[in-house]
Amino acid sequence: MVSSCLLGEKVRYDGEGFHYPEVLALSGKYELHPFCPEVSGGLPIPRTPAERLGASVWTRTGKDVTAEYRLGAEKALAYCLKEGIRKAVLKSRSPSCGRGRIYDGTFSQTLAEGHGVTAELLLAHGIEVYTEEDLGGL
Ligand code: SF4
Repeated sequence: MVSSCLLGEKVRYDGEGFHYPEVLALSGKYELHPFCPEVSGGLPIPRTPAERLGASVWTRTGKDVTAEYRLGAEKALAYCLKEGIRKAVLKSRSPSCGRGRIYDGTFSQTLAEGHGVTAELLLAHGIEVYTEEDLGGL
């Protein structure tokens, strides 16, 4: 599984995507399945940025979007299990997709230890999670 935005899909909160040739190049070795947990969880494009605060997720304008983030994570896990996916390359620092370090919930560009909601759920089920900044020799 690959975060859709890493493959150029315009699914980010600001309606943009990213261009990461090194992630695209993985298609030479793996079957890539793009997935965006936030859109799958029912959030629109564009959308108000959100950050994780403990177990919940809040937008910059103070709306609780935890349910949408959880739904997206559950759908991502279900998709991995259905397709037999054992590895994921997810966007770093995202409140959904980040692994290891994410924004700390203060909307001040400050990072804290932790995983995004989807990364956390996939890791808990034994799926290897990488980021575009750490492809881990994939
Ligand atoms: Fe990209 Fe993940 Fe955010 Fe979707 S939820 S835009 S795939 S970082």
